[in-house]
Amino acid sequence: MSSSPRQSALSALATRTAPATHVTAPVSATESFGSDVFSDAVQRQRLPKPIYKALRRTIEAGEALDASIADAVASAMKAWAIENGATHFTHWFQPMTGMTAEKHDAFLVAKADGSAIAEFSGKELIRGEPDASSFPSGGIRATFEARGYTAWDPTSPAFLRRNGSAATLTIPTAFCSWTGEALDLKTPLLRSAEALDKQARRLLGLLGEPNVRRVFPTLGVEQEYFLVDASLWALRPDLVACGRTLLGARPPKGQELEDHYFAATPERVMTFMVDCERQLWNLGIPAKTRHNEVAPAQYEMAPIFEPAPVAIDHNMLCMEIMQSTAERHGMKCLLHEKPFAGVNGSGKHNNWSLADDEGNNLLDPGHTPHENLKFMVFLSVVLRAVDLHQDMLRASIAHAGNDHRLGANEAPPAIISIFLGDELEGLVRALIGGKELKGRKKGELELGVSTLPPLPRDTSDRNRTSPFAFTGNKFEFRAVGSSQSCAYPNIVLNSAVADSIDHVAGEIEKRSKGKGADRRAAIEAVVRETLKRHERILFNGDGYSQEWQDEAARRGLLNRKDTPAALADFGGKKNAELFERLGVLSRRELESRQHVLLMAYAHRVAVEAHSLANIAATIVLPVAQAAAREMAESLSAVRQAAPKADQGALEELLTEVASKANQLKGAADRLAKVNAQAHELEGSALKAAESYRDKVVPAMRETRALCDQLEALVGDTHWPLPKYRELLFLK
Ligand code: ADP
Ligand code: MG
Repeated sequence: MSSSPRQSALSALATRTAPATHVTAPVSATESFGSDVFSDAVQRQRLPKPIYKALRRTIEAGEALDASIADAVASAMKAWAIENGATHFTHWFQPMTGMTAEKHDAFLVAKADGSAIAEFSGKELIRGEPDASSFPSGGIRATFEARGYTAWDPTSPAFLRRNGSAATLTIPTAFCSWTGEALDLKTPLLRSAEALDKQARRLLGLLGEPNVRRVFPTLGVEQEYFLVDASLWALRPDLVACGRTLLGARPPKGQELEDHYFAATPERVMTFMVDCERQLWNLGIPAKTRHNEVAPAQYEMAPIFEPAPVAIDHNMLCMEIMQSTAERHGMKCLLHEKPFAGVNGSGKHNNWSLADDEGNNLLDPGHTPHENLKFMVFLSVVLRAVDLHQDMLRASIAHAGNDHRLGANEAPPAIISIFLGDELEGLVRALIGGKELKGRKKGELELGVSTLPPLPRDTSDRNRTSPFAFTGNKFEFRAVGSSQSCAYPNIVLNSAVADSIDHVAGEIEKRSKGKGADRRAAIEAVVRETLKRHERILFNGDGYSQEWQDEAARRGLLNRKDTPAALADFGGKKNAELFERLGVLSRRELESRQHVLLMAYAHRVAVEAHSLANIAATIVLPVAQAAAREMAESLSAVRQAAPKADQGALEELLTEVASKANQLKGAADRLAKVNAQAHELEGSALKAAESYRDKVVPAMRETRALCDQLEALVGDTHWPLPKYRELLFLK
């Protein structure tokens, strides 16, 4: 019998020799770190002192960029890049697709005498005109309108991106239309960080720290991913087109033995991880932690935290590097939130805090009464932000892929709530109740109300079921999807917190005006009231339980179960006013984003539905029909040979396969039909998204169930698609 492509791929894998580990000496992270970055150190070394100082003022103090220094910076950048092998430069940006984009230009100017020189001007550094009219703009820019522009973001350092023999000077930029409207994710992110800075300094002033120069959000992004063998991947049209399996019967073994989590990493995967880390370190990305995750074939990488916009650039790069590196190692890196049904999907923990220009963490409870008070003020501000803007936070993680995870007993529910840990929650509740705090255990909580207690910094107090957990000195927003950019969650978080500080600071100002007013008493009263008003957002229990769904409903917390529901009023009045007030997004910019996100959902589901209908009709159905035919033939041969023998069980099997195949034909046809109907609604993004959710997603479920049943009935050698047991366990 000739071997099928699946069988050949499996035998090749079975006889695969050990990965060719490069026998090079180990690379020291500290020595190679940042070698491909036009970093502070390189800038200091290569720029004339006044230029260097002006550039650092822009980067560190957020001062407007002095355009007159651009030529000098460009010239130093070019020299550095060319010395390090670069031939091209690119403005790197993050359009509303949620991915990154680039277009390369050579450092090349041809001369009249037939020779050429390398040139790169300040103008080329500061501004690019990539046109790029095919990116979604949500209606801000019709394709006949003028170009899109990119603008240098000096706060994220330029770097050399290496790809095969190519090295490209890559300049992080913002992307906007000719009217100055943001067409990307970075512009609102930077604006939200600025709004937060302004409000946080105002609050710190009220707390007796008027000299803080800057407050910025810090972010550490833990990235989960799957690795599968590339030769198996290539035989799965669903993985190729959608990044996830759309069908596949449940394997005998999944993650129930809990034998993958934190286990020793297989050599092939370790070689991949080492290769990734080297590239990340060269790019100044502080990759720190690597380990096996819960599901088979699932892994995680965590970097050390950085200023949020840089951390987001770095996470985007990290995802690209993981994907390109996997290919070099004969594997595919799956970043989808749910590549396989029945085992855990992947998320991205968004560890968020606030730091001042001296590196002090504003969410660190600290040791002194002053630090404690400051902490409690910022804590109350975050509570208020998350409670009032649950809807925006939920919208920021709305994504077709993430719908498979949220609330599915592996990731937090779609209800947004905050976990503080027993100790801190106890303290908050005591404050709300107006209690004097007395020490509970020796040495802890020993202060009265007016001087807040030194808080325990026990980070072992964990609740993995909470979407928004305080983990000692930062908040961890755990519901972000693994393939998503962290830009939206952080735009929303920064804006919601800035808005909340604005309110709280206003209250404190109001109450500490006038003769004999006691600022400290005002602060304490505002903290107490804020905590009390937003207490309902606190939840320490099991977020996966049905009781929490019921309890959250009683508390009036939102439970938006899917992407269309989460995005339906993202562009509504409350959010539009908030973003506009803070200068983060205009109404039009917000509405365009809502539109783009809804359409992205619609298009993702449409592609999946199209793929599944196609696989069902052109792969599964013919296989099932062939199997039925073969069964019928062998049954009639057996009948001739032994007319009296009981063939009941075989007849039953034949009937079952034939009947499932018949049902599958009907299901696949219906799927194709509802998909086409939903497509016709695309004039209204919300209507289309709802139709994909209500009609297409259920039709996919029906089609998949039949395919999976047939997989379990049809002879293994006939099945052309690599099975779950192979994708998940063979390396
Ligand atoms: P945990 O055990 O809470 O997961 P880790 O120390 O492993 O804590 O950190 C998880 C992620 O949180 C890392 O990326 C880390 O750099 C990041 N992180 C730590 N402190 C902060 C902070 N102040 N702001 C933002 N992220 C932080
Ligand atoms: Mg974590």
